[in-house]
Amino acid sequence: MRMGRTTLIRNAVIVTVDDSNTVYDRGYVYVEDGKITDVGEGDTKDDADMVLDLPGRIVMPGIVVAHTHLYGILLRGAALRIAPPTDFAQVLQRIWWPVDEALTVDDAYASALSAGAEMLLSGCTTFADTYSGPNAIEGCLEAIARATDELGMRGIIAFEVTERHSPEEAERGLDETQHAARTLSSDDKISLMVSVHASFTVSDGLITKAVRRARTLDLPLTIHTSEGLVDLYHNLEKYGERTIERLDRLGAVTSSTVLAHCVHVNDTELDIVAERGASVAHNPMSNMLNAVGVAPVPKMLNRGITVGLGNDGWIFDPFENMRCALTVHRLAAGDPSVVDENTVLRMATVEAARCYGLEGRVGSIRVSNDADVIVIDGRGLPTPVTSRSVIGHIVHSVRGSDVEHVLVGGELVVRDHALVRVDRSRVSEISRRAARALWDRLH
Ligand SMILES: [Zn+2]
Repeated sequence: MRMGRTTLIRNAVIVTVDDSNTVYDRGYVYVEDGKITDVGEGDTKDDADMVLDLPGRIVMPGIVVAHTHLYGILLRGAALRIAPPTDFAQVLQRIWWPVDEALTVDDAYASALSAGAEMLLSGCTTFADTYSGPNAIEGCLEAIARATDELGMRGIIAFEVTERHSPEEAERGLDETQHAARTLSSDDKISLMVSVHASFTVSDGLITKAVRRARTLDLPLTIHTSEGLVDLYHNLEKYGERTIERLDRLGAVTSSTVLAHCVHVNDTELDIVAERGASVAHNPMSNMLNAVGVAPVPKMLNRGITVGLGNDGWIFDPFENMRCALTVHRLAAGDPSVVDENTVLRMATVEAARCYGLEGRVGSIRVSNDADVIVIDGRGLPTPVTSRSVIGHIVHSVRGSDVEHVLVGGELVVRDHALVRVDRSRVSEISRRAARALWDRLH
């Protein structure tokens, strides 16, 4: 296979995730100059520079990760010498905040390379990352952008501001975002967002400032929202408002806002989210890991709220996240009809793209979209793969390791389960070296 200006993918089951959820049994996708120019059933012209003839494969849009923390990968398997946390506030105080404080700019690069590689190999082509490193702020976004670019992925990146230590720290974080937005503006695959940690670690003044900065720079705004009860109780006690009521009073709930988690939100708050046209990044596996509760996603969907699926920096295999999104709401509701496979697949693709206003570019296989396309090897699946069964297979059977090829903007960046641009052993070496040093600093 060689890379060329035009690419033809053919003889595969094509799952488009378009507005009608069209699936082609023996379909094709034609790519020119990084864009999808034709998609359909059967045969088409075969004069492409690169032809991928793919019987037995499933072709679908690249996964869009609505919320992640790439640096989370450096903690994989770490045996921290801490008393086990018994609630979410302690998870932050004993694990994540000490990690944040120990991070360096080199860690930002190493973790972005390592986590990006793992996500890309399992079919994620776009991610929305928020990075937190209060002792190494300047330069971290450039480092994350560099790693993302080396892999050939798309990233919406941010520095997460908080006033845990001082207002000055938050100011520097906002400036880092502004600086990166200007210096990286020519990069087609990297974009910025303004990120506020959570309402319980920031003042009204900072939220207002972040809203203003996002508006001035025309960037999305993201904030962890009632992930744990600590956020809700803080706002009720200090302001007499629930979390989304307070954020809304400060102008932070708009159609450019992505609220991460929204576990402890009531009907009034969801009505505000729906009315303002804000989106939610749902992270069910992380919610289970941290035992924070179950986000009321069926209620969000009933109100027409855009819900994208994220991984929150923990399990990077998007198919595992999809399975969890499918099952946790069924269990919580005691009703297997509350979320179906198609809804979950859309949450992981086009709806996650919609959170960031990117649904006209990525998240579905449609003419004029960027050619972010993944190929899943379905030849080992135990039952037939057809237009009727394929979405069930994607959500029930497929694993990240089944992803055979990945194209981003028409470029083949994963071929035969391997990274094309970057040497995987080099990625592991950089990642392990950073993790070892970080663990030493934590101890
Ligand atoms: Zn998060």
